[in-house]
Amino acid sequence: MRIVVLTGAGISAESGVPTFRDADGLWEGHRVEDVATPEAFAWQPELVHAFYDLRRAALATVEPNPAHRALARLEEHLGDDLTLVTQNIDDLHERAGSRDVVHMHGELRSALCTTCGARSPHTASLADEPPCPGCATPTLRPDVVWFGEVPYELGRIERALETADRFVSIGTSGAVYPAAGFVQVARAAGARTLELNLEPSEGTDFFHEARHGRAGELVPAWVDQVLEDTLAGR
Ligand SMILES: [Zn+2]
Repeated sequence: MRIVVLTGAGISAESGVPTFRDADGLWEGHRVEDVATPEAFAWQPELVHAFYDLRRAALATVEPNPAHRALARLEEHLGDDLTLVTQNIDDLHERAGSRDVVHMHGELRSALCTTCGARSPHTASLADEPPCPGCATPTLRPDVVWFGEVPYELGRIERALETADRFVSIGTSGAVYPAAGFVQVARAAGARTLELNLEPSEGTDFFHEARHGRAGELVPAWVDQVLEDTLAGR
């Protein structure tokens, strides 16, 4: 049983991580193009650093929830047969016990050097321009994929989707590509597809099945079911 799981903002929202985009379309009071594009960083690096420094520091105030822990339990049983892909830049999957997480949109607790390209773990502020651990140049930026940039590990994700028996999307809006297209890739390759979300996503019709409710309840129940099926050889 090979499974690809995609998680989005909805799973972290239940831990109290604010979703980026509010109902008014702003991110914590900022326009997207002012904090989450390469142009914004070139124009106002102080504002962009302050925005991500705050979000990185806020990770200390949230904890993984039962949905994160259930996915860590699934990895324990399936090992490499599970590919866990997240659009989230927080570290809640890791703190729940997941060891191999594909952060397609990067990570708050990582820095990217614009001089040498090295990615390094980083938990402090970036606003005070610390040196890169690789090349010592003080040119670190948040290691997050901004609008107009290419997500990480798309090759690995595509290979996993093409050999998956099941594809499950958890807490995603179905609005942000390329992740919104993963269900169609998996389905075309023969996978059974399931949506677990608070409400029908924009892409809900692409899934074979959809269950709507809180991730903290739906995900542990789904994992229990998968492990029963696996044990029974179904
Ligand atoms: Zn460097």
